[in-house]
Amino acid sequence: MKNKDFWIKKAQGLKIETRAFIAGKYVPALSGKTFPAINPATGQEIAQVASCHKEDVDSAVSAARRAFEDRRWSGLAPQERKTILLKLAELIEKHHEEFALLETLNMGKPISYSYSGDIPGSVNCLRWNAEAIDKVYDQVAPTPDTKLAMVRRAPLGVIGAIIPWNYPLMMAMWKIAPCLATGNSLILKPAEQSPLSAIRLGALAKEAGVPDGVLNIIPGYGETAGQAIGRHMDIDCLAFTGSGEVGKLLMTYAGESNMKHVSLECGGKTPHIIMADCEDLDNAAEAAARGIFENQGEVCNAGSRLLVEESIAKPFLDKVLEHTKDWRVGDPMDPDTNMGPLVTKEQMDRVMSYIHCGDKEGAKKIVGGKQVMTESGGYYVEPTIFEGVTSKMTIAQEEIFGPVLAYMTFNGEEEAVKLANDTVYGLAAAVWTRDASKALRMATRIQAGSIWINCFDEGNITVPFGGFKQSGFGRDKSLYAFEKYTDLKTIWMSMD
Ligand code: NAP
Ligand code: MG
Repeated sequence: MKNKDFWIKKAQGLKIETRAFIAGKYVPALSGKTFPAINPATGQEIAQVASCHKEDVDSAVSAARRAFEDRRWSGLAPQERKTILLKLAELIEKHHEEFALLETLNMGKPISYSYSGDIPGSVNCLRWNAEAIDKVYDQVAPTPDTKLAMVRRAPLGVIGAIIPWNYPLMMAMWKIAPCLATGNSLILKPAEQSPLSAIRLGALAKEAGVPDGVLNIIPGYGETAGQAIGRHMDIDCLAFTGSGEVGKLLMTYAGESNMKHVSLECGGKTPHIIMADCEDLDNAAEAAARGIFENQGEVCNAGSRLLVEESIAKPFLDKVLEHTKDWRVGDPMDPDTNMGPLVTKEQMDRVMSYIHCGDKEGAKKIVGGKQVMTESGGYYVEPTIFEGVTSKMTIAQEEIFGPVLAYMTFNGEEEAVKLANDTVYGLAAAVWTRDASKALRMATRIQAGSIWINCFDEGNITVPFGGFKQSGFGRDKSLYAFEKYTDLKTIWMSMD
């Protein structure tokens, strides 16, 4: 890993593209409007970014529709799309340091994570989808032999993807890779807080040979660019990652416009459950701290509720406190930092207001709870743990999306499952126990899209990711992601 001086110097020489990418070209917003990209580590402006509105979305959708209709991409053989997408993966890799820097400057993620996690993870996602697309087969149905019935997966057409800021390039790639692999055209709206890495992709996609109009990138605000995508009459499907509040709006937009497909990856309030018979409490405590403090707690599946069986609650808390010391808030450009600032001042204020709410509702703050490094101008909050949290409290129910852990206790398997299911969310859960039958019983009864047993936050591009309940529906990653961007077409042929 290169040192801090290297990254600072590289940042000074960085040329940042800030325009929208439509029909294969970088263009300013038609209105000429822009909005600032801010570095959350300093509060300083990095650049002014094109602020797209409905007319820019219209222009991108026309380009995407033309590309889909004339089959310049959808009509290519899967092997040909694979070759181009693999070339794009290679180009991102070639600009690995630049992408890592854009992520860190724009959203505050420590450079060591951008460099070693986000960028390789995004490249891997793209490669895997590219490699998969020429290995999936359609079906022939078991009909009488005078008739042939084929069941084929067809691309939907023009997809609108709207994504959040916590893993900017990775969230973009979870949508782009399966969407383009299956032959669709795409309008991607990155979050207003973190548009820079997605914008950079446009030029590389063109260089790789993705035809003009197939990938369009529209930076802008949710209420303007996002809403225009949601309500567009010529977009066939919305692929969303973000908050439940906006997810619900998108369902309304779809219903009030053209009944476009909607898939939603919304938030979570992941229960991290430690049973008294857990084999390795130290390992579990390390995972518990990492599960809430990694990426500053700005993770949809963050283990924000730590549920611990009463008989071990006190000694386990001591272990968690010990591992909390591993998480050091600092300058994200320093490779030794593992916690950077929160993404915006607004997000910091939101997290601080939840901390005050925890105090007010009677939970006991045992570590952290303060803004730090205020002299930097950045938005830093310490790792924070509340003890004595009950399930009714706001900090046990609402997604905080920051480094704030609710420590709760229970007695026995039954109560653990009840508490685990006692939120509107169902994205993920974890159970630590040495009793395999108990683990599987609990995994069966907990309503969540991913369940980890004796581990936390395992993930791989080969497995689907997404939620139950108000964590949304539809899955990213794995071959199941192709279902989101395609529909079944049955073709009958008579052989009489
Ligand atoms: P957000 O406010 O819901 O924003 C997500 C995206 O929606 C942004 O691009 C946003 O644009 C856009 N948007 C906002 N209002 C809109 C509207 N009226 N119409 C159309 N689009 C609109 O979420 P966030 O604060 O960026 O991200 C945090 C949330 O994402 C958390 O709830 C987290 O759990 C969730 N998340 C879920 C997953 C998952 O896989 N399940 C992964 C990561 C994050 P602006 O940028 O202008 O606001
Ligand atoms: Mg927002």
